Amino acid sequence: MLLENFRPQSKLVTKTTLVEKPRFPAIDAHNHLGEAFGGGWDQKPLPQLLDLLDQAGITRYVDLDGGWGEEILNAHLDHFKAPAPERFLVFGGVDWSQWAERGEAFPEWAAGRLRVQKARGAEGLKIWKSFGLHVKDHKESLVDVDDPRLAPIWETAGELGLPVVIHVADPVAFFDPIDETNERWEELGNHPDWAFTSPPFPPFMHIMDGLASLVTRHPNTTFIGAHVGCYAENLAWVGALLERCPNFHVDISARIGELGRQPYTARCFFLQYADRILFGSDMGPYPEAYRVIYRFLETEDEYFNYNAAPIPMQGRWHVHGLYLPDEVLEKIYFRNAQRILQD
Ligand SMILES: [Zn+2]
Repeated sequence: MLLENFRPQSKLVTKTTLVEKPRFPAIDAHNHLGEAFGGGWDQKPLPQLLDLLDQAGITRYVDLDGGWGEEILNAHLDHFKAPAPERFLVFGGVDWSQWAERGEAFPEWAAGRLRVQKARGAEGLKIWKSFGLHVKDHKESLVDVDDPRLAPIWETAGELGLPVVIHVADPVAFFDPIDETNERWEELGNHPDWAFTSPPFPPFMHIMDGLASLVTRHPNTTFIGAHVGCYAENLAWVGALLERCPNFHVDISARIGELGRQPYTARCFFLQYADRILFGSDMGPYPEAYRVIYRFLETEDEYFNYNAAPIPMQGRWHVHGLYLPDEVLEKIYFRNAQRILQD
């Protein structure tokens, strides 16, 4: 038998808790509704979507798929926000492709687009992971995350009160050689385009140092580091940045696999930074996906799959619940988001 065909079934007899709804009505601070990552709900009837969210106990949903021009933003605002303003927040973006044409005027131009997006109804700014990996300036040079030329964008977001959900880098192992020691070998085999082996890509820590200096340099701008501050493998690093920068927060989207395989460290992290952590799924508006996260946050269930798929996508390990106390759950499920995300 080949190792890839091995499907061991755990014989542990432990508790299995079904948590259908979150302990407190939840705000999902990181998710999608467009075709690529969110199930194409911009093309489907809204009542169906609201029904799913009701089933999952999600009161408000941050849709990060407003795109980078105003066309997609407008379409999402019209489809989701206009008919159900209390249920959705739609975030805009930066059109990096314009740097080539606009040259040195690009940063001010991009900052100006934020004003337009805010006026139209955008309630935040999403920075996608291409920033730091692919985005180039008008001279075709790769742009660092903390490039000082971009200050007008971050300062304007702060001035307009637009929180910035920022995703840079990716799982650390995506930057390593794809060999027998790579813990994401199987996932990278399924998605070769997710590999950012360095070189030629910048080292993982170069990008993370850039994030830290960006957040430090713009204390009046609210940053939400996606996927546990983009470094769920190292909660001490994330905690240190949270300590240093009161304007920094993190969401927990798509990182239950990482958090749940270091349950003691993760539980301490949640207790210590309870005011700085936002609930988020990143898996579309689906109750099955939400329920895994509720189980992880609320129960003391042990050694369970963190994915809906039979073979967990991020790696063949299992996770342990954090049994967080109510006062922490309340903050993570909605109080922090209520405070940080405007409406
Ligand atoms: Zn996402």
